[in-house]
Amino acid sequence: MTQLQTEQPPTCRIHQVDATHSPETGEFIEFRILKSDEARVHAGSVIPPDIAICDRCLKELSDKRDRRYDYFFITCTDCGPRYTIIDALPYDRPRTTMRDFEMCEKCLGEYKDPRNRRFHAQTVACADCGPSVVLVGRDGKGVDSTDPIREAGRLLERGHILAIKGNGGYHLASSTRLTDPIVRLRKTKFRVQKPLAVMARDLEATRSFAEVTPPEAELMTSFVRPIVLLRKRPGFDLSEQIAPGLHNIGVMLPYTGLHNMLFDETSERAFVMTSANPPNEPIIKDDEEALARLSDVVDYFLVHNRRISQRCDDSVVRWLDGAATLLRRSRGYAPAPISVAVPKDACTLGVGGELNVTCCLVYQGRAYMTQHIGDVETLQTLQFQKEATGHLLMLTGCRPNAVGRDLHPLFNTTKFAEEFAQESNIRVVPVQHHYAHVAGLMAEHNVDEMVGICCDGYGYGDDGSAWGGEIIFADQNGHKRVGHLEPQPMIGGDLATKYALRMVAGILRDEPEVADWLLARRQYFRHGEEEINMVLRQVRSAQVTTTSCGRVLDAISAILGLCYERTYEGEPAMKLESAALGGKDVLKLEPALNGEVIETTSMVREVFARVERLRVPDLAYSAQSYMARSLGMSAIAVAEELGLKTIGFTGGVACNEAIMRILKVTVENEGFRFLVHKLVPPGDGGLSFGQAVVAARMA
Ligand SMILES: [Zn+2]
Ligand SMILES: [Zn+2]
Repeated sequence: MTQLQTEQPPTCRIHQVDATHSPETGEFIEFRILKSDEARVHAGSVIPPDIAICDRCLKELSDKRDRRYDYFFITCTDCGPRYTIIDALPYDRPRTTMRDFEMCEKCLGEYKDPRNRRFHAQTVACADCGPSVVLVGRDGKGVDSTDPIREAGRLLERGHILAIKGNGGYHLASSTRLTDPIVRLRKTKFRVQKPLAVMARDLEATRSFAEVTPPEAELMTSFVRPIVLLRKRPGFDLSEQIAPGLHNIGVMLPYTGLHNMLFDETSERAFVMTSANPPNEPIIKDDEEALARLSDVVDYFLVHNRRISQRCDDSVVRWLDGAATLLRRSRGYAPAPISVAVPKDACTLGVGGELNVTCCLVYQGRAYMTQHIGDVETLQTLQFQKEATGHLLMLTGCRPNAVGRDLHPLFNTTKFAEEFAQESNIRVVPVQHHYAHVAGLMAEHNVDEMVGICCDGYGYGDDGSAWGGEIIFADQNGHKRVGHLEPQPMIGGDLATKYALRMVAGILRDEPEVADWLLARRQYFRHGEEEINMVLRQVRSAQVTTTSCGRVLDAISAILGLCYERTYEGEPAMKLESAALGGKDVLKLEPALNGEVIETTSMVREVFARVERLRVPDLAYSAQSYMARSLGMSAIAVAEELGLKTIGFTGGVACNEAIMRILKVTVENEGFRFLVHKLVPPGDGGLSFGQAVVAARMA
């Protein structure tokens, strides 16, 4: 019994131990694993996430004497895919996509032997009985190769683009040294600037181009094996096209035998390894679809014949100030439950917002979050959301009694929630965007009341206007907006989100020099001078305003010449953060608080006035510092007034290292407890969690 709890395998989580002792002898007679009881598993079920290849399997993979030498899908009880192959619970082979492969005698022998390390390993397989892999040309015809995986590695090294089928979907892969294939890949993926993740051979190879701290190394080698955002090394010598204009790069280590074998016969330190998804669509998981949609993108396909039950993107993590911050919670995490303090009888669903959507089910004091679904702007992602949610409900066997959704009336997720509620005849709970973030943070830390600072790009406000730099007081009964950034005009509405110079024109509407400054940048306007004149005319009459923190950071980024057009979410602010590295707070601006309003115009004006004379890193840092300190001071003032001891920081901007650090110091120096997310993403990937929690309290 003690051993059960102290000598468990690395991936083991014991949720509960029920022991019954025989009154007669008190001796053990035999050890058996009982057949999973369907009814029992359903109540409080634990759905295992995928687990990266373990060291023992890796050793066998390269051991010529082992019978699984060179078998690309080698796994054991400690490792291998789980969630991505599970069609239904309890987790036994006949309910996974491994049921298509009948175990050979040797595999079956291991599966049945309690002393074998593959005893009851549902994914057990070998070259004789398990999935196989082939190399296919873009015409769909097989390429003759006795060693398709290593051949694929060689093809990558020579500059070809490959689609590689993994456990949870297809990756697009290319060399990391050659710029040509990356440029080609970007064109076809409609990703002009968005950073691409890479898969490195091992830690040592990673260290040749990125800095890896001990906790980052631990994250990278953990059984989750996420993409970890690492700082590029000085003299970074991979292609600049991988993460243009950024100081960091997303790196993961191989997590299947196949990935490891790719590197065997190449001298490459890393390959680009990015999710194969058409713009605004989910990652491709089916072979016919891959062939149909990727054949004009890639030169070859490396395909295995195991079906993917649930598609699942790689997770993305950033080590921030002593904790792992989840940028995307997916493979390796989802859908492992998170304990949460809500009424035990509550069973609620949260459906997320519009970007980086996940779904979350709160049930019996646990929150089950789906894998990353994506931006639910198209029918395809909406369909994926419905499937993933349905799958989660089926696996847990529960029926929600309320569903939390965003306040935005027109989001696809809003319609999904309304339809779902109508079909199930349950209540819909609309939850304001930033309150959902704050409520999630409170639930994660089991805190009853808090002043929350929530900063991101956009959220539908209680008054219907665009919010995104909010100070929210929340307790068990609800929330109140107690502070916010100064509302700034968005000239041309959504166009101002894409073209940051429009934000500059709006914020600096009273600066006479701004017209000439914009004209000097006419090449960044699609219609040049004509468009600038129109923007300047609209400055006074702009109807749409926003309190978004993201839009202010965008404006600074444009003023400093770092980014004029946003080609992916968060781009200008991320480039600003990179540029601020090594900078100092040279402006040392005093927070300008005006009642509930945190002024931003004065700060932007100061930066604009000094852009010719001061260094970009210093100005970038000064702007971030002002935002952090003024948000912090505003929250502190409210907390003091309300007699609260806790201040939290959430929203996408909470992934910005400099802003988070300065805010933390500001808040802690005044004697307050400072909270950030550790279990769910601070960005919109964590929104569904907060919505489900709020719905649970109100149900
Ligand atoms: Zn293993
Ligand atoms: Zn076998």
